[in-house]
Amino acid sequence: MLEFNLFRPQSLQETLDLLAEFKGTARVLAGGTDLLISLRAKEGMEDVRNVIDITGLQELAFIQERDLLEIGPLTTIAQVAEDSVLRQNAGVLAEAAAAVGSPQIRNRGTIGGNVVNAAVCADTVPPLVALGATVKLERKGGSRWLPLDQFITGPNRTQLAEDELLTKIAFAKLPANASWGFMRLARREALAIARMNVAVIIVRDGQGKVEHARIVPGSVLSRPTGVPEAEKLLVGTHPDEALAHQAGEAVAAAMTSSGRRWSTPYKEPAIIALTERAIKQALEVEWR
Ligand SMILES: Cc1cc2nc3c(=O)[nH]c(=O)nc-3n(C[C@H](O)[C@H](O)[C@H](O)COP(=O)(O)OP(=O)(O)OC[C@H]3O[C@@H](n4cnc5c(N)ncnc54)[C@H](O)[C@@H]3O)c2cc1C
Repeated sequence: MLEFNLFRPQSLQETLDLLAEFKGTARVLAGGTDLLISLRAKEGMEDVRNVIDITGLQELAFIQERDLLEIGPLTTIAQVAEDSVLRQNAGVLAEAAAAVGSPQIRNRGTIGGNVVNAAVCADTVPPLVALGATVKLERKGGSRWLPLDQFITGPNRTQLAEDELLTKIAFAKLPANASWGFMRLARREALAIARMNVAVIIVRDGQGKVEHARIVPGSVLSRPTGVPEAEKLLVGTHPDEALAHQAGEAVAAAMTSSGRRWSTPYKEPAIIALTERAIKQALEVEWR
């Protein structure tokens, strides 16, 4: 384990002051389920001398409904999974949160940590991107908002500056005519990081024709983003099983556009099937 100074600020301002003072040598600690593992392994932590434990900042633990739905970064994954407002208006996110790790991990891990850690397999990220989430980043004396799909730039890489703190995640409620699906594939049913996951949101008109579709896979592309080639296939149609399969193939094609790897023969059929099933779940149909 690395040796470090531990700070436990009690306000947002105190936290931003510490981040400014120790810029470049500090890491924020939320639930610690990712950070403590890295600190123990000393992976990418060579420059860390100061750890800022933000668990005292209860002002950053909230789920609120304003013009947008807003989630504070210290909200635990369990709270996201169980919240009735989110279940009602952003069910795809609550469902994904419920699939994370185990009760212990969900009670300790936070949505802010899941987003900032930016693992390719992070379960809350594809639903948040599908929902069009933006993130608020604050530093001493300033703040900015970024779309989540721009904030995450690659595996475990984000645009977070060394003196910035993620302070809010916001997105619009799903309209009443929206439905969604979330599927993940892991080695076991429980306590297993997803090998791949996919979030689907479909908006249909009164006749059941698709007006809008979002298909966001995780662990498939170098950063979390929709696959327009797959989404376009569904728009203007009453999708059937064959079309859902084609959408899956479009996601697989996006995956292999950057090259084929040893794992491609395994991942290709898996992502096609996951996408097809997530579309099926969103359409609430029984094809087989
Ligand atoms: C056994 C096990 C199983 C797991 N299973 C899953 C799973 O199924 N799905 C899944 O998605 N994840 C899983 N995880 C990963 C982890 O639990 C989640 O990513 C969790 O949400 C991280 O949140 P945290 O609060 O613990 O983050 P921390 O470990 O405290 O922080 C993670 C990173 O984010 C930074 N950070 C945290 N909050 C902020 C903030 N507000 N502003 C700026 N930076 C911040 C930290 O500095 C650190 O770099 C698992 C982990 C373990 C150990």
